Amino acid sequence: MRNDSSPHTSIDLSRKYCTFHESLPMAFALNDGRVKTYPSIGHCIYCGSDRKLSREHIIPFGLGGNLVFTDASCDQCARVTSDFERYCLRNMFLAARTHMNLPTRKRKERPKTLRLSYFKNEGDHEWLDIPVSDHPYAVVLPVIQPPTLFSGAPHRDGLVIEGTSVRAGPNFYQKLQSFGPNKAFTQEFSPDLFGRLLAKIAHGYAVGEVGSYNFRPFLQGLILGTQTFSSSFIGGGSSQGSRRLLHQLSLEWRASFLVCSITLFSMEASDSAGSAGPTYDVIVGMAA
Ligand SMILES: [Zn+2]
Repeated sequence: MRNDSSPHTSIDLSRKYCTFHESLPMAFALNDGRVKTYPSIGHCIYCGSDRKLSREHIIPFGLGGNLVFTDASCDQCARVTSDFERYCLRNMFLAARTHMNLPTRKRKERPKTLRLSYFKNEGDHEWLDIPVSDHPYAVVLPVIQPPTLFSGAPHRDGLVIEGTSVRAGPNFYQKLQSFGPNKAFTQEFSPDLFGRLLAKIAHGYAVGEVGSYNFRPFLQGLILGTQTFSSSFIGGGSSQGSRRLLHQLSLEWRASFLVCSITLFSMEASDSAGSAGPTYDVIVGMAA
């Protein structure tokens, strides 16, 4: 794994980089077609291999991500990252992606129906298939404790989840009620795989913007699944506010730590009260 063994670690962080406190408002409007491309750094951003490199979407293509890293992942790491990305796209975010018409590489396989849960009796659960136009959808995201590296709370192997944030789609409650009692929108969720997705987004964005030699990365092991302790580096942050943009990323130095803040699905949804969705702070590394 390539990290602090790089020959360029003596490059000092100039004051210039500290202006990231202003944050880098690299964010993207839904389907606006803009793409930002980062040049290859000559090796895999996860393991350092220089073999069979392919491009990476920093935020998955299937979530509308338009930051593209050229020749950034070796084929072995691409297999690992696409496994957890696929889980998040197909299990966590399928309903939102379908309703919002976010990109898919398999347009013909776009679902015509989506599921609602029907809780008949205690412990007796059925799925109902509902045509997409009638289906009430929401984006359910975990609210998690701040990274324990900052908070000083004990390290845990997974994300420390405190609650859920629900971004309800248009007419969510009216639609749900039209199906009668005991129906619910349910969304599968894996804290581990979602945490790795956050780590991957943050790491790719930091390498693209700051450069691989300008910080010592923390997250490759988490991304590749060879390391746990995600609560140290991934946690809740303070909301970035804007609901005009689908997703938002920003980077800043906090003391000697490089932090990427991620807000996913920060869009305004008609039935949602209050602010944008939860923001996650991911500590991607420390000053080299
Ligand atoms: Zn690799």
